[in-house]
Amino acid sequence: MRDADFFRHWMAAVAASVEREADRLTELDSPIGDADHGSNLLRGFTAVVAALGAQPPTAAPGEVLQLAGRTLISTVGGASGPLYGTLLRRTGKALGESDEVSDAELRAALAAGVDAVAQLGGAAPGDKTMLDALEPGVAALGTSYRAARVAAENGALATVPMRARKGRASYLGERSIGHQDPGATSSALLLGALADVAE
Ligand code: ADP
Ligand code: MG
Ligand code: MG
Repeated sequence: MRDADFFRHWMAAVAASVEREADRLTELDSPIGDADHGSNLLRGFTAVVAALGAQPPTAAPGEVLQLAGRTLISTVGGASGPLYGTLLRRTGKALGESDEVSDAELRAALAAGVDAVAQLGGAAPGDKTMLDALEPGVAALGTSYRAARVAAENGALATVPMRARKGRASYLGERSIGHQDPGATSSALLLGALADVAE
């Protein structure tokens, strides 16, 4: 079973890997975007860690993720803020109010979160977005956390030959081909951090 501390550790691990990879995320966002993905997420997850530090320690797992999601929405101006914010809010909501959640409950909650991202952004796998890492990653949670990390990383790599159909990169049309999507790359970090704290 996973308690609120597990979710706090997950968010702290995401913040640490975003800090480590911020320059790379921004570099990926420069040929097919506006070169701010790393700084967007760094600002957002730094604020998440601060907000969680100020949250009452009695908060339930679902409340931890909902606060993280709200914080991303209010601190990240780019497309990724509302999208990641929705992912975490919806996942947190699906976890309900219990103090401990099973891995199966977490998997189902994350699947609901990914569906909410698809609904908000109108994207589907193959459109060269974060969904290309989130969908296969969350599907592979049925096997293991490690499998989810690998599937998300492979999903991010698979965006290279895709033509973007959503977000800023879609303005480039054919010229978006040949570049890895920054949001799919950060989604692999998110699921990689989950694997790190879970195993
Ligand atoms: P912005 O494009 O506003 O500068 P970011 O650079 O922070 O925002 O995030 C860009 C990432 O957001 C893209 O690489 C892509 O993965 C993701 N993204 C953009 N639009 C959508 C969408 N409609 N659905 C899913 N993901 C999207
Ligand atoms: Mg950008
Ligand atoms: Mg931007």
